[in-house]
Amino acid sequence: MVLGGTQEGLRYEQCALCETRWHKVRSICPECFGSEHLDYWSIEEKMSAIEIESCGDCKTYSKLFRLDRDPHHELCSDDLASVVLDALVEEKGFVRRTVNPFALPFPVSID
Ligand SMILES: [Zn+2]
Repeated sequence: MVLGGTQEGLRYEQCALCETRWHKVRSICPECFGSEHLDYWSIEEKMSAIEIESCGDCKTYSKLFRLDRDPHHELCSDDLASVVLDALVEEKGFVRRTVNPFALPFPVSID
């Protein structure tokens, strides 16, 4: 997520299970630390509150929730609600760096 308010512009990653956050420098790929081939994708043309940052070096992507543009994000549900954006970049050969555990199928029992 990219924070707003007094911490505007700082990027943090957040665990979907325990909500622990840790700082990540922006404009550097969290996977390979490359910075030359980062691209940003969104459904809306400008100032989108949900973006994807893809890295052309390691072919991974992360979803960015721009709290500086919309402070009311509910990260897990907004992640699930924006799967169209995931599909768009996965069609271009990128692989998501992280998993939303709430998007995993529930265990199915066979009786
Ligand atoms: Zn990378």
